[in-house]
Amino acid sequence: MPHNGGFTGASWSDAVARCPKSMLHGPCAGVGADGDCEVPGVGACSFLAALDSWPYPPPPVEATGPAGADDQVWDVGELTEVAARRPVIVADLPAAALSTDSLLDTAEILAPAVDACLLGDHGGARVQFPPSYRSGLLTRRGIAVWVGVNCRDRNRVALAGEVAACLDAGVTGVHCVTGDHPALGHRDDTPGVFDLDSLDVVALARGHGAHVSVAHAPAAPPTAHRLSRLMAKIDAGADTVFVDHCGGPGPVGEAVAGLRATGFTGLVLACVPVVTSAATAAVVASFAGPRLPAGFLDAIVNAPDPTAAGITATARLATRMLALPGVDGVNLSGGAQSGHERAAARATAAIANRVFEAARHPT
Ligand code: SF4
Repeated sequence: MPHNGGFTGASWSDAVARCPKSMLHGPCAGVGADGDCEVPGVGACSFLAALDSWPYPPPPVEATGPAGADDQVWDVGELTEVAARRPVIVADLPAAALSTDSLLDTAEILAPAVDACLLGDHGGARVQFPPSYRSGLLTRRGIAVWVGVNCRDRNRVALAGEVAACLDAGVTGVHCVTGDHPALGHRDDTPGVFDLDSLDVVALARGHGAHVSVAHAPAAPPTAHRLSRLMAKIDAGADTVFVDHCGGPGPVGEAVAGLRATGFTGLVLACVPVVTSAATAAVVASFAGPRLPAGFLDAIVNAPDPTAAGITATARLATRMLALPGVDGVNLSGGAQSGHERAAARATAAIANRVFEAARHPT
């Protein structure tokens, strides 16, 4: 794997200077399997040449069990109590950007089936309602919201206001990410802000009293260092970890075992790709294609009834994830192309219902 990008012995400050997102706490999860930056034309991720100055100490691992739990206080709220009794299910809410009607319509379909609707970045539109506005539209109707905030569109002052407004709206959790570079979206004519990165916004949100979640990307290079970077996010204040798509139950199980061995007692949710049509397959392939279980997408899309096949396959995969030691729940992860949001919400709700049913009546 071309780790050095043509230059060697780079310091951490060199790497930050070369990063299109100027990540002080790099690298982001957008590093490709070949080591290339997520931004087309940049070449190798600059941080892969600076591994000698990696700033995150290896996580403490105790062979005898979850040492460290006694002196850490994880304020994980009522979802922890839920997780002790049954799986937690969070699901990406498929909704058209800039449409209150679509947001409310799909939320009313999906919300009754899940513990919280995750409001993340829209797959195909960088211009969207602010997270706090979307949150308020839903929480005022009694819908539990797990809201995503990113560092691409707002500086630290605007992020502080945004997080405060999300909390004022009564969100369940705040998912803190650096965010994709604007070159990957439809507004590639605009610069990203990246005043902060994911670690900073975790600390900011935690300082405001939020229940904070972060992403763990075990499959993103440099894979041997991803756990220590995750621990830095946890040290910054993360309560919950979403384990990103990384190849299916085997790799997820290994990643979760490594995380639990550090003593982390917060919630762990495994991301499960929701694929129930050609439209949802296109969206999932755009952000997770190479990191899905082998053959998963093709088997669904080529089935005589992709919706039925997708609901069955996705529910089975989620159930396998939930059987892994240390996994508390799943994030049903996906989206829909324009015009397919309602169908995607219905299919996601059907998957959640199947997963809960399987948990109630394990075979
Ligand atoms: S992959 Fe991410 S961290 Fe690495 S250089 Fe590109 S934007 Fe920066």
